[in-house]
Amino acid sequence: MVYKDKEKRKRYGREQSRKYYKLHKDKVLKYHKKYYAENREKIIKKSRLWAYENRGRNLRNSKMYRMRYRKKIQNLLGNKCIVCGENDWRILEIDHVNNDGYKERKEIGCSYTAYRRIYNDIKVGSKRYQLLCSNCNMRKKMERMGFKYKDIEKDMKEVELSYEKRINIS
Ligand SMILES: [Zn+2]
Repeated sequence: MVYKDKEKRKRYGREQSRKYYKLHKDKVLKYHKKYYAENREKIIKKSRLWAYENRGRNLRNSKMYRMRYRKKIQNLLGNKCIVCGENDWRILEIDHVNNDGYKERKEIGCSYTAYRRIYNDIKVGSKRYQLLCSNCNMRKKMERMGFKYKDIEKDMKEVELSYEKRINIS
């Protein structure tokens, strides 16, 4: 069956190859593997060029993928901040329980593949991550950096005292 309409033809071709793949999965995978091994350089060059020529689309795509994995991760982690219960997904952040986010980002970056890896980790039971809202995450960061309320209060009292002293002298 040959379609004159380009879109229809495309769709038909796609359906056919999908059917073929289902029936001969091993064969197809083997063929792809062999083809990749033989044409590695060419393929990498081509895909880089494609990424460059379609950079707008590419950016959009990777952003979309990232969002999708972020949402999936939130689902796994209970969809709310574990401290205050905030459940607005836009401000929920994936926090590293042991504060090793910096190290991890250096290792795997923060593209959608990094999110995919985190998602897969959580799926098999990793306890490295938790959900925090922006506020609670910032509070955790502040406290880790030594910004404790009582310290700030102490500092403020000292400033006030020195101020009072200055006023009394003059
Ligand atoms: Zn919170």
